[in-house]
Amino acid sequence: MDLMQITKNENGDWPTLEEWPTVEADVTCRTPGCPVEGVTYRITMYRNADGVLRAHCGRCNTPNDDIIEVPHG
Ligand SMILES: [Zn+2]
Repeated sequence: MDLMQITKNENGDWPTLEEWPTVEADVTCRTPGCPVEGVTYRITMYRNADGVLRAHCGRCNTPNDDIIEVPHG
């Protein structure tokens, strides 16, 4: 998996929102007792500037630690 780092361009600017890379990822909530515990959703998310993908469950509002990037192609 390539963990792409987002960097400023030659002008020292961050990419605009339109240029900001998005990735597909399978996100699964692992919170015991959550209504969607163990249910995997494929979502499109913006990659963080440090290259790490972060999401949180929409039902229990807990940060997801099971995020698997879907390779393009
Ligand atoms: Zn949850």
